[in-house]
Amino acid sequence: MFDYQAPQNLLKDRVILITGAGDGIGRACALSCAGHGATVVLIGRTPSKLEAVYDEIEASGFPQPALCPLNLETALEKDYLDLADQLFDTFGKLDGLVHNAALLGPRTMLDNVKAEAWLQLMQVNVNAPFLLSKSMMPLLRAAPDASVVCVSSSVGRKGKAFWGPYAVSKFALEGMMQVFADEQEGTSAIRFNSLNPGATRTSMRAAAYPGEAPETNPEPAQIMPAFLYLLGPDSKTVNGQALDAQ
Ligand code: NDP
Repeated sequence: MFDYQAPQNLLKDRVILITGAGDGIGRACALSCAGHGATVVLIGRTPSKLEAVYDEIEASGFPQPALCPLNLETALEKDYLDLADQLFDTFGKLDGLVHNAALLGPRTMLDNVKAEAWLQLMQVNVNAPFLLSKSMMPLLRAAPDASVVCVSSSVGRKGKAFWGPYAVSKFALEGMMQVFADEQEGTSAIRFNSLNPGATRTSMRAAAYPGEAPETNPEPAQIMPAFLYLLGPDSKTVNGQALDAQ
């Protein structure tokens, strides 16, 4: 497991936006960031799941989060720009952005993938992180040392049979991260990195490996040290890197 011990107040006064914050790794990230002092902006497509995370954060006495239901499959550029305006009015800056939401999509040979499924997955896994990053740049520039974390996968670093558009989308996310990172290097205080969570006990993992015993994999909460490291000031000089949470 990634060896990092986060101080309790690591993310105090930081504002961190997390996509797919209602479930799995995104939910754990939201709870962990809030528990380390951050004000988290919860983005996801199922309002009831986001509300449950919101309530859990409030009940724990952590900083009050912001709740923003948004379907990344149907959102248009204007929706991201409106969100950026709202966040600017409320917080004036964004210290962290976690591109976590993703679809697994069809696990089959690439030439069997239906065009519709390919386009749907690219919309959520690639186009949404691009449009969100682009619209948040002014807010990220307003933070003293902003961090963008692209949640990737091992199949986004080495292609593997039957991983379909999911694998291709994670290569695209890694590529987007590298281009943004290189452009910001030396010109701004924004860093872009990717993080491969590794096998983690979530519904996506269960869908990808239906025959696997879930308890063989760590819970999302156990892989949080790597997220905290990348979102806090200790990773200030880390830019353009592809890291592993386990
Ligand atoms: P889950 O399927 O458990 O969670 C995915 C989250 O993304 C959910 O909250 C889901 O919302 C949200 N989401 C999906 N589609 C949309 C959409 N159109 N608009 C808004 N939100 C959406 O997956 P994990 O927690 O396992 O995965 C999190 C990240 O980690 C992903 O990027 C995944 O590729 C990566 N990863 C995971 C691994 C694992 O072993 N679990 C291994 C390697 C990488 P809702 O709950 O409402 O459906």
